[in-house]
Amino acid sequence: MKICRYDDGKFGLVDRHSVRDVTAITAILPQFRYPFPRHDLFVAALPELRAPLEEAAPASSPIPLSQVSLLSPIANPGKIIAAPVNYRRHLEEVRGDPALHHQNAIHEIRRAGLFLKAPSSVIGASERIAIRHLERRTDHEIELAVVIGEACDNVDRADALSYVAGYCIGLDITVRGPEERSLRKSIDTYTVLGPWLTTADSIADPANLGLSLEVNGEIRQHANTRDLIMGISELIEFASQFYVLQPGDVILTGTPDGVGPIRPGDVSRATIQDLGEMTVEVVARESRAASLFERVRS
Ligand code: MN
Repeated sequence: MKICRYDDGKFGLVDRHSVRDVTAITAILPQFRYPFPRHDLFVAALPELRAPLEEAAPASSPIPLSQVSLLSPIANPGKIIAAPVNYRRHLEEVRGDPALHHQNAIHEIRRAGLFLKAPSSVIGASERIAIRHLERRTDHEIELAVVIGEACDNVDRADALSYVAGYCIGLDITVRGPEERSLRKSIDTYTVLGPWLTTADSIADPANLGLSLEVNGEIRQHANTRDLIMGISELIEFASQFYVLQPGDVILTGTPDGVGPIRPGDVSRATIQDLGEMTVEVVARESRAASLFERVRS
């Protein structure tokens, strides 16, 4: 099953090149009052929602995918957990290039551990990456994104995949520089998730998915998740030794080699086998002064 969020927050089931509106089904989601829970309500309810979603879809007329604006399939991820260097050839690439490592010690993932990206950095495929710090290098990183479906803690890797709701494409957009990763990678719009959530039962083997990323038609990254140093099950085991994982939490599994700069005006196309493809535009973020000015004027 492929579930998207689109336009002003509608939910849709994706079938080949079209979307069917199933938003009405989400009326059964529990209503909370402040303080709100820290997990994603839709992902938490997905096991009960699946049958009603499938029943409702045929009653909606199909809308061509090209006519909808795709939002992040996960509206409220409680946390975005990310693997820093998790493909061998990317590790070598970073160690070999001062423009990438900036004199930071680059350790293998078991030593480096994981890092967190702010959930406020998340956008969907039809929103745009808004570059700040135009004088600095900002890179694309395509990654398999794993979406947790059920609360879990201290998971054994043998059971880990049973806690996965599904998968999507992730872009971990990164300002290169000496600062902490969480600062450089948490800028608003610097985590792209999409194009939709593909439920785990639709993916035969998440550890064997081709992934590729183009910028303006030029292939930059091309790899397969079989080359992950720490695999998906082990990442869930590792992350759950530090955090209780909640429905809607996202694990970005790390990027392969081929990272490179993006600039305003670029168009990036990211593809992961069986998860779809998404085209994301890059723009310059208007200055704070300009956006304040717009607000005052309107
Ligand atoms: Mn990354």
